[in-house]
Amino acid sequence: MSLPDFQLLRPKTLTEAVARLAENPGETQIIAGGTDLIPSMRQRLFTPRYLLDIRGIPELHGIRQTAEGLEIGALTPLTVVEHNEILRHDYHVLAEAAGTVASPLLRNMGTIGGNICLDTRCLWYNQSLTWRKSCGFCIKKDGDLCHVAPGGKECWAAFSADTPPALLCLEAEIEIAGPKGTRRILLSDFYTNRGDERTRLANDEILTRVFLPRATSGYRGTYRKLRVRGSIDYPLAGIAVAFKAANGHVEDPRIAITAVNPAPLVVGGVKEKLNGKTLTTEVAEAAGALAARTARPLTTSALTPEYRREMVRVLTKRALLDLAAPERKRS
Ligand SMILES: Cc1cc2nc3c(=O)[nH]c(=O)nc-3n(C[C@H](O)[C@H](O)[C@H](O)COP(=O)(O)OP(=O)(O)OC[C@H]3O[C@@H](n4cnc5c(N)ncnc54)[C@H](O)[C@@H]3O)c2cc1C
Repeated sequence: MSLPDFQLLRPKTLTEAVARLAENPGETQIIAGGTDLIPSMRQRLFTPRYLLDIRGIPELHGIRQTAEGLEIGALTPLTVVEHNEILRHDYHVLAEAAGTVASPLLRNMGTIGGNICLDTRCLWYNQSLTWRKSCGFCIKKDGDLCHVAPGGKECWAAFSADTPPALLCLEAEIEIAGPKGTRRILLSDFYTNRGDERTRLANDEILTRVFLPRATSGYRGTYRKLRVRGSIDYPLAGIAVAFKAANGHVEDPRIAITAVNPAPLVVGGVKEKLNGKTLTTEVAEAAGALAARTARPLTTSALTPEYRREMVRVLTKRALLDLAAPERKRS
């Protein structure tokens, strides 16, 4: 499949990038690593008139320690996030999640900003134009019907990136630049939980930086992922867990899930169930049940919703038990 025609814009500064975006906001699409966008353009899911290649903007690269914690530029490749020593040590759940994205080559090209802004996925959407046309299109693109929830008016395409649940567990914030200046919001306020309008990023805005607070530095954490091919696939369910380990007890626990809803979501009720507890099998099972209740997978992927929800429960329990006894670590 060939690429549709487009004009490539290559700003050298953030100010220039924001200005170029403001000139034709509805017709311009940002490209970072291009690992998701380019295949989608070949499938005619996006046919922007202009592609804004932001890779030439130096201030969007790199990881810096600050008084508040850690700052990660939106263009930082996932390989760097995976191997960065500070992240591996102080924000382990994020480094681990980044290391499960796609394959090594895609992690070299793919960026953390692109991962956070990743498009939602569905069996009826991530297909060629010919395929989608033969099915009468769908709500997310070119049509008005949902094949996943017939009769429904909402899009249920699943948000399927690996790093956002880890970032949610760490209470990450993001910085967004636009024509009116920059704004900083909690990542948990960024997503809409709608498959079609997936984020609150306006079409004249750019995600510039991610902030990890000092408060969650040193939290024990891990990420577990269900996928068909272990070497390369998007998650069909993903679970991030993080907490402060204190004298054999769990403090300030957080669990977040991905790929089973139109947004990555923090699991509610976890603090009430886990705070101050020792991680026994019963406690881990109770947390698994909470996570499974938050998951609402539908027939958006190759595996059944029932299996994906059950795996959310199982992987959450395993993640917690592995963190309780790291030497017993399983896949
Ligand atoms: C075979 C294959 C397997 C994959 N497996 C996984 C997987 O297991 N897990 C996973 O999470 N992902 C997976 N991906 C998707 C992708 O590789 C990653 O999500 C990657 O992090 C995307 O980053 P990117 O820089 O390439 O984004 P791009 O493709 O450049 O962009 C993705 C989207 O984000 C927007 N965007 C990018 N940067 C910004 C920014 N700074 N501000 C505003 N908008 C922005 C773009 O406009 C576009 O809509 C896979 C892709 C392929 C092809």
